[in-house]
Amino acid sequence: MADVDRNIEELKSKVKEFCEDRDWDQYHSAKDLSIGLSTEAAELLEIFRFRSEAEEAEVLQKSRVEISEELADCLFFILRFAQKYNFDLDESFQNKMKKNAERYTVEKAKGSNEKL
Ligand SMILES: [Mg+2]
Repeated sequence: MADVDRNIEELKSKVKEFCEDRDWDQYHSAKDLSIGLSTEAAELLEIFRFRSEAEEAEVLQKSRVEISEELADCLFFILRFAQKYNFDLDESFQNKMKKNAERYTVEKAKGSNEKL
């Protein structure tokens, strides 16, 4: 299966079942899931620590499995948070992208990484 074959609800169900089988509800407060997400994002960042921009392509190639696992760890916490606290991720994403498009119009933001 690939991204194109899955939907978010299926992934949420998988995460829910995984956590319920292990009785992890008790550990998954909104605060602790947020800490988990932040920790996993930091683990992804660590892969690139002390690597120059010139080394990026090499890191992406050599650490592909590790990067894939950290992305999955981040996704796990996003899915778990959304599943447990009833957020519709597609709706959240679509709404936020709409806000981003309004804030970062092509006219203002094209070719610029300036925060608006
Ligand atoms: Mg990790």
